[in-house]
Amino acid sequence: MASNVTSRPSTALDLTGSKYRDIPFEEKERLFAEVKADMRFEDVLYGCYECGICTAACPSARFYHFSPRIIAQAVAREDEDLVYTLMNDSIWDCSQCFSCDRCPRHNSPGGLITVMREVAVRNGLQTARDALEGYGRIIYKVMSTGTQVSPDMLQADAFPDWGKHVTEIAENLDIWRRALPPETLHTTETGWEIDDKTIIELYLIWHMTGVMDMIKDIDEGLFMILQDVMEERLEEAGYDETFD
Ligand code: SF4
Ligand code: SF4
Repeated sequence: MASNVTSRPSTALDLTGSKYRDIPFEEKERLFAEVKADMRFEDVLYGCYECGICTAACPSARFYHFSPRIIAQAVAREDEDLVYTLMNDSIWDCSQCFSCDRCPRHNSPGGLITVMREVAVRNGLQTARDALEGYGRIIYKVMSTGTQVSPDMLQADAFPDWGKHVTEIAENLDIWRRALPPETLHTTETGWEIDDKTIIELYLIWHMTGVMDMIKDIDEGLFMILQDVMEERLEEAGYDETFD
């Protein structure tokens, strides 16, 4: 990588009309350096044969203009311009299934994409905000309760194609849940019962590892709602933590 380059014209990916803005090359270098500095980087990319096996195995490649091969190649070749473009576009088409882990070079393109996404989120790229916009409710659910989906999300208006039985199940949800053998599943507002110790640990981890700071950068409204929930619960548990 040309680490001593202080100025270089963009190598001509035409961003005209693109949904994201071009930035100085030095800024692309900085973002790329952040990807490479991640402690997982050396385990997700060893080089690339350009064989395309990852793309052949990738379900997202069948439905989108998307190729894990291109992402692995761009990073292996240290093409900062293309990496920046991909961080604003392709990486959000990955479904994180890791079928691409069958790579003969022992790369994990899906793992590489995970790292690139986190850098995009940490740096507040507009496309990261756009990609996460529709997931506010899920992020809130995961971070406030510790579980992703809850049974009470099963409502007829949310699943109109599931037929009449959705309404029947929703109306008798409590009974259905109590019919399940594990008592920890006798819940309707969370996927399973989360004990106080676990949720307090999760709040502290998200606070201390900078996850809450990332949420604040991406979606301040969501941050404020979560902040209220978490600070109140932490205070009840005897912690004096503020998330500002
Ligand atoms: S990442 Fe692996 S599977 Fe994909 S093109 Fe490169 S060497 Fe082949
Ligand atoms: S993890 Fe992403 S890139 Fe890999 S196979 Fe799944 S969808 Fe494709």
